[in-house]
Amino acid sequence: MNVPAIFIFDFCFLFSFTAPALADPNVNRLSPPDVNKVEIILDRFAPVIKERREKNNLASLTLDELYAPLTESQKIFLKNFENLDANTLSVKIPYLGIVANNEELVTIKGQKIKVNGEFQTLPPQFLPKDVNQSCTKMMDAMQKDLGKRLYVESGYRSSAYQLYLFLASLKNHNYSIRETAKFVALPGYSEHGCPRLQAIDFVNEDGIDGQNNPQLFEVLPEYAWLVKNAQNFNFSLSYPKDSNDGIAFEPWHWHYNKQQ
Ligand SMILES: [Zn+2]
Repeated sequence: MNVPAIFIFDFCFLFSFTAPALADPNVNRLSPPDVNKVEIILDRFAPVIKERREKNNLASLTLDELYAPLTESQKIFLKNFENLDANTLSVKIPYLGIVANNEELVTIKGQKIKVNGEFQTLPPQFLPKDVNQSCTKMMDAMQKDLGKRLYVESGYRSSAYQLYLFLASLKNHNYSIRETAKFVALPGYSEHGCPRLQAIDFVNEDGIDGQNNPQLFEVLPEYAWLVKNAQNFNFSLSYPKDSNDGIAFEPWHWHYNKQQ
């Protein structure tokens, strides 16, 4: 199974785990029986993943949907991945929690950017309603000031989707949990799956983003505008340049501070 590269950015951090309660607790390389279990589980996921991918709503996959096609023992096995203990991270990423569902997601469709002279429509994205409202207001204000706006390249990604992504990505990293975790956030550790701190990865109208042009994003006038004005719309930069927690600078990744 190929995991498109677009889904596996944003968490290139080095860290290690305490031993998970798998049949063979080897985070460096899963045992052959465990590899087999992973493959069988991915086969069982295939229909729901295919259907959601076709409908462009994979990012809002729920844990209930993910677990539904599994046997009881497969569910227990998968739970091990959901519960992987990342307390021994050498880069401290706070555990934000697994969110089973979010009733208030809105779908953002038809965002158009122009890359190398050609218009591209971004795949549909999802955001909690209040986050989308504030983001739209913020971009309207930016448009007024700069004559341009940023677009949502990646918004809400459910914990279930993150869990699926992690499992599907193991194959690309020699079935090493430790290696995979450098590239794919574990469920519960991504601000993209945490509505109270909902993250957005922005892309500008020319396609400059964190994935392909990380060094260009920080010199954009749109970025300077955000630094000055985002707080007025309850958005904050999650991983600033001068942070001393070891997390890489991500000028495109901003999170919403939910109003209680
Ligand atoms: Zn991000």
